[in-house]
Order: sequence, then structure tokens, then C-alpha cells
Amino acid sequence: MKKILIGTHNKGKFKEISYLISKKIRKISPTKLRIISPKETGKTFISNARLKANYFSKFINYPVISDDSGLCIKSLNNGPGIYSARLAKKKGSFRKAMKYILKKMANKKNRSAFFVCSLSYKQPKKKPITVVGKIYGRVSLKILGNKGFGYDSIFIPNKEEKTFGQILKYKKIKMDHRYIAFKRLKKKVKTL
Ligand code: IMP
Repeated sequence: MKKILIGTHNKGKFKEISYLISKKIRKISPTKLRIISPKETGKTFISNARLKANYFSKFINYPVISDDSGLCIKSLNNGPGIYSARLAKKKGSFRKAMKYILKKMANKKNRSAFFVCSLSYKQPKKKPITVVGKIYGRVSLKILGNKGFGYDSIFIPNKEEKTFGQILKYKKIKMDHRYIAFKRLKKKVKTL
């Protein structure tokens, strides 16, 4: 059976990416191989996704797919952006980070936001193939729902009234930034 390493320690992302990839490919996690994540030194989602693919690829002789993603809020200068995970770490939890964001946005009229995902796929001895997907929406007024992970409970995608935290998981997986990026990647890597 073909294998692929899903280069993330984030359980929510691991589940979503696993779900998107063909059932004929065995999904391996870096946790299982006891590989820690690299430092995200890139300045963009693309450079961080590529950096992770190159890094994880050094440990294996089969393909790897990595992602870098985050929430960009227009009135916060597109932050936390690439610092989304680091903000949660700094605040102590995602719930605390979401509360912090809602407080910062209390008197902002513009609540527009988008989630970004860059996916990078690398085969041994080949250069990574990297794509980006975005989903636009707005930041809710309250933390709503507990079905998702990360910042799901404060993001309402366009044409929806519920946050990603309230929307059924299987529905979210088929519409979010990771799904959009994956569709683009699949056009370039048909075997996925
Ligand atoms: P990184 O890509 O490891 O730097 O982490 C990105 C951060 O954005 C993580 O903290 C995620 O939880 C968050 N994030 C990325 N995608 C999603 C999503 O689909 N829903 C909620 N939070 C997300």
C-alpha cells in the first residue's frame, strides 16, 4: 500500500487532510514516527508549508504533505495570520486567543476575515508542489459551537449564518480553505 506522511501534529488538521486523500493511501503521522515539527521561520503561509514539506521529507522515503494555515482578520491588519498557532500558545489556549480577538474587535465595524491554507506536497528527491486556498467570511460576535478546532468557533463563512464550530464537521471539511487548496493540489498531483 502507498504511504504518505501528513506533516502536522495538529489533530484537527490531520483528520481533515486524511479525509481528503485517497483511501488507497496509508496516512502516517509524525507523532507516530516521533518526529518533532520544525520552527516556522517563514514570512508567508507558502514558505512555511514548503519549509515543513522539505523538513519532514528528510526523515522518510515516501511522499509528504504539509500545511500552513491561519485566520486573517482585515481590521487586525490580517492578523493573527501566520501567527495564529503562536497566538493561542501565547494566550494559553484557543479559547483565550478567541476571547482576546473578540475583545480587540469590540468596536471594529469591519469584521471581514478569511482562513488561508497553503498545502505543500513533496516526493523524495523532487521539489515541493505548493498551492493556496482561502475561504472568506466574518468574525462572529461571540464564541459559538464546539464542533471544530482552532479558531472555528469565531468564523462564519460567507453565505452561512453559523460558525465553523457549529457547522457539521463533514460539511466544513468539504468547503473550507484546506479543501479548496486540496482541490488545486489534486489537479497537479492526480494520485492523491
Ligand atoms: P500552523 O499552520 O501550524 O501554523 O497553525 C495554524 C493555526 O491556525 C492553528 O492554530 C490552527 O488551529 C488554526 N487553523 C488553521 N486551520 C484552521 C481551521 O480550519 N479551523 C480553525 N482553526 C484553524
